Amino acid sequence: MRLGLHTRVGAGYDAAVAYAQRLGCTTLQFFGGNPKTYRVTPIDRPALQRFAAARAAAGIGPVAIHTSYLINLASEDGKTVVNSLRLLKNDLAIAAAGDVAYVNTHLGSYGKRDRKDGFASVVAALDDALAGIAPGVHLVMENSAGSGQLCGGTIEELGAFVRACGNHPALRVCLDTAHSWAAGYQIDSREGVERFFELVDRELGLDRVVMFHFNDTQIELGGHRDRHWHIGEGNIGVEGFRAIVAHPGVQGKIAILETPGEDEDDLRNVTTLRRVLDGITA
Ligand SMILES: [Zn+2]
Ligand SMILES: [Zn+2]
Repeated sequence: MRLGLHTRVGAGYDAAVAYAQRLGCTTLQFFGGNPKTYRVTPIDRPALQRFAAARAAAGIGPVAIHTSYLINLASEDGKTVVNSLRLLKNDLAIAAAGDVAYVNTHLGSYGKRDRKDGFASVVAALDDALAGIAPGVHLVMENSAGSGQLCGGTIEELGAFVRACGNHPALRVCLDTAHSWAAGYQIDSREGVERFFELVDRELGLDRVVMFHFNDTQIELGGHRDRHWHIGEGNIGVEGFRAIVAHPGVQGKIAILETPGEDEDDLRNVTTLRRVLDGITA
């Protein structure tokens, strides 16, 4: 597995690569733009190409963009869907310009809308985005904590999206461990992890999942709330992550930490996970 962090790029791409390198990371995730606005800025191709070259030189890759939190492809407000699709396509274009393999996105929320209509809206948006996707770029759907109306809270629903999009080869899946736990998947033991991946394999196929978000959480199992916590210090725990990294379903893929806190927390979380990966007992 390749291990990395969600990395700030506000101080420039060089600083982001240097930070990832300092922590010994071999992948990373970043925001393509400001995650809290629908506005898009022009794509700086030379800067993205320098970023790609710096990552390659540092042995960092494949990497991921996380799309804006504003994206809602299921909204009953047509304007929101149009704006969301523009953001998604912009990140796919940034990925193509900057040699980024994965564009990880939340799908959104059905709100008060009939789920069937919301589902169809998401599928239409995904089809549209996939129709123009560049070779080497993948649109990655992230599973949600599955609270009430959130899209993609179950593995079955993600499987339904994949099938509705004709099993498009560029449509892939990211599994966030904290979201999985909050959605009710008990991944804190070998048996639980085994059961989880059996479901993933049946509904999606293990190859459909290209990346993971490794976050612990203090939310109760099935609590449907999205709160990330430090690795090994939450309900998934070191045992859970040990079982996850030992599973064939994760081998050769990337894991991104989205844990809270400052640089020292990043270091602690990466160190904990590296020990888990190396099979060292804490
Ligand atoms: Zn996310
Ligand atoms: Zn996540």
